[in-house]
Amino acid sequence: MAVMFDVIEPATGERLASVPEAERHDVDRAVAAAERAFRSGDWPKINSRDRGRLLFRLAALIRENADELAQLESRNVGKPIRDSRDEVGLAANCLEYYGGATNKITGQTIPGAAPGVLMTFREPLGVCGVIVPWNFPVAITSWKVAPALAMGNTVVLKPAEQTPLTALRLAELAREAGFPEGVFTVLTGAGSVAGDALIRHPLVRKIGFTGSTEIGSRVMRIAADDIKRVTLELGGKSANVIFEDCDFDRAVASAVSSSLGNAGQDCCARSRVLVQRSIYDRFSKAIVEGFQRVQVGDPLADATEMGPLVTTAHRARVMEYIQAGRDEGATIATGGQSREGAGSYLEPTVFLDARPDMKIVREEIFGPVVAVMPFDDEAAAIAMANDSQYGLSGSIWTRDLGRAMRVARAIQTGNLSINSGSSVHLEAPFGGVKQSGLGRELGLQALEHYSEWKTIYIDVSE
Ligand code: NAD
Repeated sequence: MAVMFDVIEPATGERLASVPEAERHDVDRAVAAAERAFRSGDWPKINSRDRGRLLFRLAALIRENADELAQLESRNVGKPIRDSRDEVGLAANCLEYYGGATNKITGQTIPGAAPGVLMTFREPLGVCGVIVPWNFPVAITSWKVAPALAMGNTVVLKPAEQTPLTALRLAELAREAGFPEGVFTVLTGAGSVAGDALIRHPLVRKIGFTGSTEIGSRVMRIAADDIKRVTLELGGKSANVIFEDCDFDRAVASAVSSSLGNAGQDCCARSRVLVQRSIYDRFSKAIVEGFQRVQVGDPLADATEMGPLVTTAHRARVMEYIQAGRDEGATIATGGQSREGAGSYLEPTVFLDARPDMKIVREEIFGPVVAVMPFDDEAAAIAMANDSQYGLSGSIWTRDLGRAMRVARAIQTGNLSINSGSSVHLEAPFGGVKQSGLGRELGLQALEHYSEWKTIYIDVSE
């Protein structure tokens, strides 16, 4: 009988479900089935248009079951129900986007120097291992699974051990949609066992990984042994750069939402707020008031803006950062306490008087904590924004278009918004520079990472 492990509901601390704990031999079996499905059976025979239709059918089933999926996600992750509804919708949109791409990905004929015909094909890789974190389970799963399946690969997915429930439901819906056996398999289990077995498996041709920089680096090292393809979406410590000529109220509202969304458990969280000195005091006061107004509570209540953190262990880790901030001399202007009683709740926390060398400024906290720091001019803002091992997202707030573009081009990051807190656009590439990752997800660029070019030459001489 399979060994099971408990999945805990963050809002109550109670057991929500038990799921199988996959061992190495389970990974072997799932990968073998995925390899069989890739090489033989119905999957390779399904033409590009029908492959697209399957993705659309899965999207439709996600929409039909959106309420159930959103409830599952909110109860499992602790995120507000309205955010979960958005994310479930995003997953369906993503499947449709790549469903529409299946018959638009073409090879080329190339005017080479040789006299014959030179052409290229775009071919799938084979079995793709997909490993995702606990913060946006259903959305991030779709970002990898949709382009992988659209290109004709097969997928073995390992969700985070804390949040496997929507992934299991997606696998059921994929069967209902008509994906053949072995094309999309979900294995629940520990990263150090099932995840490790997946990245080491010789038949797995590619790993699409989202998670911490520490584990991402490990994935890349192990993948190097047999030259597996990898895409890595890793940590972040993004800067929110606020100039004195910004639209003040919008900048404040965004500074709150872009650092507290998903309780700050967001790789794109704008956790370093850099404010021009002339408006620093006024802005600091306003962001503190904004943090204090955020509705923290039951993830299933419609009014809730921030739920608990994903686990009590993670909350303890965030509390250690808060203590480090205190020890290094930053000032807590609001928050800093965990809530007594059931659930892993933590107050939204603002640090003022932070310095760029502090741990709370350098490391990814992954909780509802921001550090607000002043800068004097454009050059200083750019230098501070770039003083990080990470480069994933960020924002700039100014009414000066020239300055906005100068600063946007100078900040070392994969994604950036001007006068907006947004990070992810389904139709555009998303990913990080420096230690925030390797490769890109979303947009048509993601399809590059789930396919290989094959070049064929035909000699046409008599
Ligand atoms: P994590 O690295 O601990 O875990 C991510 C996944 O890797 C999980 O499924 C886990 O089981 C698996 N894993 C753990 N150890 C493994 C091993 N030895 N071998 C193979 N797999 C292993 O990250 P997390 O705590 O789940 O997520 C938080 C991190 O994810 C943060 O650093 C965050 O910034 C990052 N993240 C990045 C993005 C992005 O797009 N750049 C998006 C979301 C989250």
